[in-house]
Amino acid sequence: MPELPEVETIRRDLDKEVVGRRIKTVEVKGKRSIRRHKDSKEFRARLEGHKITGIRRAGKYLLVALDGDEVLAVHLGMSGQLQRAKSPKDPVDKHTHVTITFTQGGQLRFVDPRTFGELFVTDAGSVEEEVPELAHLGFDPIEDVMSWGRFGQLLAERHTPLKTLLMDQKFIAGIGNVYSDEILFAAGLRYDRMSDSLSAQEIRRLYRAMVETLTEAIKYRGSSLADEQYRDLYGETGDFQGQHQVYDRAGQACRRCRNVIVRVKVNGRSAFLCEHCQI
Ligand SMILES: [Zn+2]
Repeated sequence: MPELPEVETIRRDLDKEVVGRRIKTVEVKGKRSIRRHKDSKEFRARLEGHKITGIRRAGKYLLVALDGDEVLAVHLGMSGQLQRAKSPKDPVDKHTHVTITFTQGGQLRFVDPRTFGELFVTDAGSVEEEVPELAHLGFDPIEDVMSWGRFGQLLAERHTPLKTLLMDQKFIAGIGNVYSDEILFAAGLRYDRMSDSLSAQEIRRLYRAMVETLTEAIKYRGSSLADEQYRDLYGETGDFQGQHQVYDRAGQACRRCRNVIVRVKVNGRSAFLCEHCQI
């Protein structure tokens, strides 16, 4: 599932490619992708004729602002992709469920083989009602800069294993299975360390690791994993998977100490770590 660096990469590209464009027509082929709407006619009517005025990210959601104070919310789910087509004649992927055609400048297409992703239009003031998850979203590790002291306070208020806490969207927005492992390796901390057991130095290391890992991953345009389908707006894979230190590297040598990376099960998910480098 795309995490913050992948969604942020798409947000930045959308900002360059579609802001200022006016929507001419919308075509819906996959009803499941617009399941919050009673029919595709209503969905289309709320988009057609409107201009895109900005793109925000909230956790793993993309919020496309429209003139007239409405918002097109996009969640990519497991395998959703937004694709920029310069012309309607560009080859169409068979899993294309929604096609937005601009008055000038091609199309934006929503492609989603597994159909867990979705699009919906709502008025700007009701986004949090529509997606209660957004109303309770924790701080954004890239947008919301905070002091180590404040971060330490937040950690101390919880009594939760670090990996679980990093993935809790109500605590921090946008981190999932991949980046929680990479952040904890960079911080030299185990997945099962309790959040209220960290020294001042460990708190600083964790904060720095979080910001640096995510920033670096955005620079590399996100991670495309073997079994998943993250692609950017232009159909390209990310490049950060080659930089992964622990995620999906079980049995391989740690790049720092040459010990073997191990995989453990945590609440039905996998965590990857170096037991020598992470304490
Ligand atoms: Zn190591």
